[in-house]
Amino acid sequence: MKRRNFLKGVLYGTGATMAIAGGFGTFNKLGSVKAEAIGEDLETTVFSSCEMCRNQCPIAVKVKDGKVVKIDGHPDDAAFGGVICARGNAGPSLLYDPQRIKKPMIRTGERGEGKFKEVSWDEAYTYISDKLYNVKDQYGGEAIALASRKGPHDWFFRSIGKAMGSPNVFSHEATCPMTRSVALDTTFGNEAIAADYANTKYLISIGRNWFEGIHVAQTRAVSKALSNGAKLVVLDPRFSITASKGEWLPIKATTDLAFVMAMANIMIDENLYDKNFISQYTEGFEKWAEEVKDKTPEWAEKETGISKEKIIRITREFAAAKPQAILDFGWRTAYTPNDYQLRRAILIVNMMIGNLEVPGGYYRTKPANFLKDFPDQAVYAKGLGNITQPSFPKASQGRIDGTGVKGTPGQIIPAYDGAVGKIVESILTEEPYPIRAWLVHRFNPYISLTESPRVLEAFKKLDLLVTCDVYMTDTAYFSDVVLPECTYLERSEPIFDMSGLTPKYVIRQAAVPLVYSDTKPYWQIYKELGEKMGIGDYFEFKDMEDYMSQQLRPTGITLDKMKEMGVWTPPGMNAFYVRASDANASLDNVLSNHSKKIEIFSVDVEEATKQGVPKYISHPQPEEGKFRFVQGKVAVHTNAGTANVPILNELMPTNTLWMNPVSCTKLGLKDEDEIVIASGLYEHKGKIKMTEGIRPDTVFCYHGFGRVSPELRRAFGKGINGNHLIPNEIGEVGNTVTSTTFVTVRKA
Ligand code: SF4
Repeated sequence: MKRRNFLKGVLYGTGATMAIAGGFGTFNKLGSVKAEAIGEDLETTVFSSCEMCRNQCPIAVKVKDGKVVKIDGHPDDAAFGGVICARGNAGPSLLYDPQRIKKPMIRTGERGEGKFKEVSWDEAYTYISDKLYNVKDQYGGEAIALASRKGPHDWFFRSIGKAMGSPNVFSHEATCPMTRSVALDTTFGNEAIAADYANTKYLISIGRNWFEGIHVAQTRAVSKALSNGAKLVVLDPRFSITASKGEWLPIKATTDLAFVMAMANIMIDENLYDKNFISQYTEGFEKWAEEVKDKTPEWAEKETGISKEKIIRITREFAAAKPQAILDFGWRTAYTPNDYQLRRAILIVNMMIGNLEVPGGYYRTKPANFLKDFPDQAVYAKGLGNITQPSFPKASQGRIDGTGVKGTPGQIIPAYDGAVGKIVESILTEEPYPIRAWLVHRFNPYISLTESPRVLEAFKKLDLLVTCDVYMTDTAYFSDVVLPECTYLERSEPIFDMSGLTPKYVIRQAAVPLVYSDTKPYWQIYKELGEKMGIGDYFEFKDMEDYMSQQLRPTGITLDKMKEMGVWTPPGMNAFYVRASDANASLDNVLSNHSKKIEIFSVDVEEATKQGVPKYISHPQPEEGKFRFVQGKVAVHTNAGTANVPILNELMPTNTLWMNPVSCTKLGLKDEDEIVIASGLYEHKGKIKMTEGIRPDTVFCYHGFGRVSPELRRAFGKGINGNHLIPNEIGEVGNTVTSTTFVTVRKA
């Protein structure tokens, strides 16, 4: 598809200028989706789900003459309303890209030299199997690490590592929302809490950028709230597109917790909080009140750079909208080493207005099994089935990241996610023991982890690095074995549970046959690898049809019906909020912790971090001549994933460094000047974007550029890889910290 035609259906927003002009429009509305005659040809529609980012939006794929010609949003899913974003529209561009990996490959030259030979799948499996068993024999199964983006592939991919006796399986969460997840877990006893943006009346974002870091359902919900008259306040050192839609508060980076604590201080001082909710559902409020006693608006003004009058006014407005108000808990977190305490404080301030399980606040997601304890809803309690596996061997060592160790922050880190940045440390320092083999599935540590040069150093020490991906990513380029996965448009995979205010199941099914015949779906790759390794018992299903049928069995929905519908929600069920009609309803089913209370003070957190309630830590601010370096998302790319996708690369091939004109003038720089950015150990070249949409003490670039794999022929060598500059600092609960680096900038 040519850029001109692509843009007929999709507008995009990449900068503040466009936003000021009212230019956000990253959605494309669906027309008719039934099979229809177009001239002589028949166009059919296959319901599936998008994977251009991790959000898995339900889609309707138009297929003509065996080719995908267009992708729209699923028309019957009310949360998505038949729309998808620009990246979702770019699916065919990825599918038919000749730069995809087409065959399994084994490295023949030095690591990073780019010399590979094409091999058969059997040769690739044999090579991996032999190497993994060598590592296991020499160092133990724990010397094998696995890391991937979180998703339905986990069950298959992780089975390989767990069957080898490794405890070291990781998701990418520590580079993104993990502090939020842990905060939810330690406050409510589970992570399954979501925000009801569509019905809110007052929304405060702390760096959350719904109009560039797009999640179609959530972005639409925020848009709906705004068109219904909700007020939006955005705390961000940068004027993002989201900031352009509300009141922008250009806060000093890393000081958000001061703003949040001052809100609590004001609400207590002025009696603006919901005392009934606090006494009925929470514990530890007195300790929090004590902690914020001196966090006055005057104090917060000095920390944040936001005037005390504004902090007071916004707090009063927020409290006046209770309970239909949301202080947003964020998406990509990891701003500072104590980011986790910021996320907890945000949740506490929300609970101070009693906005749990009511429209316009926060709610526990409602998968089918959750409903069985509610007599009025039990009829909808038809949960998906699990596919059984034999038990995995017990690992002989603990995890390298200390997850689960009592009395340390690791105590509260979920073992499912782990602290992925620790893999690099363990390879390089051999502490607490060495990692010798690393299996990577659709994850690119070189771009996604901080301190990229150190990541490359770590790659070089490994006995085995395997990457399974669609492209020859930067990490794949340094790997020993590269496995070509097919795209989401060519594969079926397990049914997803995407429950929100009602249960919801979504299917992914192949829309077209394999474009490159020697690529495979991940479930087949790991099943075949498992069989080659003699651990096939962990993959007890015939094929994906069999797997999906086993999942659907308890629900009474047939696989054919699911394929036909694409999305299933219980017919006739309305959005379910536990406290909608009874403000004193029990939250025992919503809270999964032992106390059955919302834990403002947490004994576990006190034990793990010595912060039973969140405490403020002041981070240094940039000295004269230095800048705080921050990164963020753009609407037309997905982090490390899409820089080489033809149409998206054409829309935005590179990034620039945003700098305020005042700072540019001081440094003698002008717009588009070539520059060198330096952060102590490392330097990176780039280009200046001079804009008033950023604080003078801060610089910013979009994430995902500066690629080093020459096989990404469109993206190679273009733009700034921000993670090249940021040290691999691991935060309190395992997050890789992204916003505490200072840089200097000079003309190249
Ligand atoms: S947000 Fe966009 S890219 Fe992500 S799954 Fe949805 S449509 Fe696809």
